[in-house]
Formats: sequence, C-alpha cells, structure tokens
Amino acid sequence: MLATPHILAGAAVATATGNVPLGIVSAYASHYILDMVPHVDIGVFHDKDDENWQLSKQEIALAAAEIILGTVILIYLVWGKKFVTLALVGGFFGLLPDLLDNVPWWQNYFRHASWYAPFNFLHQKLQLRLESNKWYWGIPFQLIIIGGAIWFLLKF
Ligand SMILES: [Zn+2]
Repeated sequence: MLATPHILAGAAVATATGNVPLGIVSAYASHYILDMVPHVDIGVFHDKDDENWQLSKQEIALAAAEIILGTVILIYLVWGKKFVTLALVGGFFGLLPDLLDNVPWWQNYFRHASWYAPFNFLHQKLQLRLESNKWYWGIPFQLIIIGGAIWFLLKF
C-alpha cells in the first residue's frame, strides 16, 4: 500500500485510542491490516517472487515524495489540535513496517535479522498486491482509506 493511507490511517487509529502506548501498537498493527486490502504500491511492476527485487532510483524518488506528501497532509490536518503528538506518532508507526522493510539502505538488515524475521514474514505474507495488469483496482480502496482517515481526523 502507498505511504499516505498508512500514515493517515495510523494517525487516525492512534488518535482514537487516546494514549501513546496503545496508539503506537494499534497504528503499527493497522499497517499489516491495511496491507491485506487489495492494493497497488510503488513496486507494483516488479516480480515479487524474486527475493532480490529492487526499486529503481525513480521509484525511490517517487516513494520519498509520496511519504513527504502524506506527512504534509497529516501535519496540515492535525497541527494545533490537542492530539497532534499522538496523531504524528501514529502516522510514523503506521508507516514503520514499510520504512524498515522497504528502504534500500537498511532493508537487507531487517529482511534478514533473526529478531525481526517474524515481522518481516508477516509483512510479506499478508500483502494483497494486485497483478501488475490490474493495478488500478488498488486505487479506490486506498482513496476510501485516505478519505475515511481525513474525515475522522477532521471531526475528532
Ligand atoms: Zn507494508
């Protein structure tokens, strides 16, 4: 799944819990749940059965830009609100599994570290990525998640 729905949903879930420890756990858990929704992400055109697939430089730039976009949207939505800290912490933990598993500089460490193996295994197994020729089906679900999270954060 793209970064923006993870960031916004993590923020919404954490905000709903009302406290930081519970917010961290539920935002982190939300990542795995959202990855079970049929989705498209930046690496959609790679063969995921190949363990050593890599994002291209353009895809990395696109992913970074998309993370910045999601972060800016979140800050815009929650800045000045009572729950700003909880929402930002939630946004970070909502995205964390992708930051650990999919950032080229340290992904090899996390993909192979024994203490992290169960998390990585879960992350890979729960993915419901669409076939690359059906990628567009992954857009509506993500828009619904983004819209729902924005609605929640605005009304909270
Ligand atoms: Zn993920």
